Amino acid sequence: MKGIYFDHAATTPTRPEVVAAMLPYYQEKWGNPSSLHSSGRESAAGMEAAREQVAALLGALPEEIVFTGSGTEADNQALVGTSVARERKGNHIITSAIEHHAVLHTAEFLQNRGLAVTYLPVDSTGMVDPADVRAAITKSTILVSIMHANNEIGTVQPIKEIGAICKEREVLFHTDAVQTVGHLPVNVREMNIDLLSLSAHKFYGPKGVGALFVRKGVRIAPLIHGGGHERGRRSSTENVPGIVGLGEAARLAAQDMQWEITHSAQLRDRLIEGALAHVPDSMLTGHPTQRLPNNASICVRYVEGESMLLSLDFEGIFASSGSACTSGSLEASHVLLAIGLPHDVAHGSLRLTVGRGNTMEEVDHFLGVFPGIVERLRAMSPISAERPASDFEGTPDAHDHAHE
Ligand code: PLP
Repeated sequence: MKGIYFDHAATTPTRPEVVAAMLPYYQEKWGNPSSLHSSGRESAAGMEAAREQVAALLGALPEEIVFTGSGTEADNQALVGTSVARERKGNHIITSAIEHHAVLHTAEFLQNRGLAVTYLPVDSTGMVDPADVRAAITKSTILVSIMHANNEIGTVQPIKEIGAICKEREVLFHTDAVQTVGHLPVNVREMNIDLLSLSAHKFYGPKGVGALFVRKGVRIAPLIHGGGHERGRRSSTENVPGIVGLGEAARLAAQDMQWEITHSAQLRDRLIEGALAHVPDSMLTGHPTQRLPNNASICVRYVEGESMLLSLDFEGIFASSGSACTSGSLEASHVLLAIGLPHDVAHGSLRLTVGRGNTMEEVDHFLGVFPGIVERLRAMSPISAERPASDFEGTPDAHDHAHE
């Protein structure tokens, strides 16, 4: 791909090592892993090696990893699977207002079938207060599902603390860690996690493969019924090449994590500082420090996120406005509304998410063109007419506006 790719939260390029690990499972080792002959056993061995690699990345046991078709499926499996398995125990789940739609829409689906759902609010930085989790737990609560880091604004939640509360109250704790696995250290035991969703394509693995960690002893009902694959937890012939790719991506992520955190955070910080300093009426969204090392998300007033995206695309720069799923529709992001932004500000959101291949030169190139793009769009845009005249002269210190 030519251009500057600042959309790693949407998806990441598949690493060449990952493709190389997958290829033999298309070309030579293509047996059905359930077959008893040696060709099948060869496939099964590749899949089991991958299970160990994924487990190692999470501090889990291999038998606690259930491969799925995506992060979305893992989220659905966690919520639906526990609510079915625990229907005699209770009928209440707790989640947050800023979850990915894979969790929120699944919670709504369950709610329409009689489950009670509490959607916890977040503060202006996107943080869930663990005290709110504690207060929301009732006798009928069966599951708490709070994401590890938000895909739009990058805020990282106090997962360990929330997990400890759930453990103490004997409520299952699920976390959607699709944006953190492979990018930040995750240890399911230390963080008191019972169920965790991950997705390969968010950390340089292939698309269409994910996993759900299910702590030993936790019972879930399957979503997909059939031949009893994955110890009866997810039937269907496994996507062996994809699973092998996920395993290799997990191995590489563990190996390169420290370097990648430092590299991404340097680029992220320059993006945030540069954008806020050179674009008047812009503000950071998400937590100032407790945020993903690769996420620079901002809101620019008096301009539409979509227009910024298209102008950036014209310059060969790929970014996102809100989440990939909401861009293309003109609905303001539920995450930005939940942190208290008014609709007009939320419409001017821009998410830049960097990755291992990005350079400081690319960041500087972006910072060179972006202020001009905003200025041009504001000059053309009908919504900039709402802008007070004094604002057009520029703000001396855009940082002052960072949390308005
Ligand atoms: N959860 C979060 C936080 C995400 O960012 C995404 C992807 O955008 C998903 C779940 C869904 O993952 P997948 O694309 O593998 O279905």
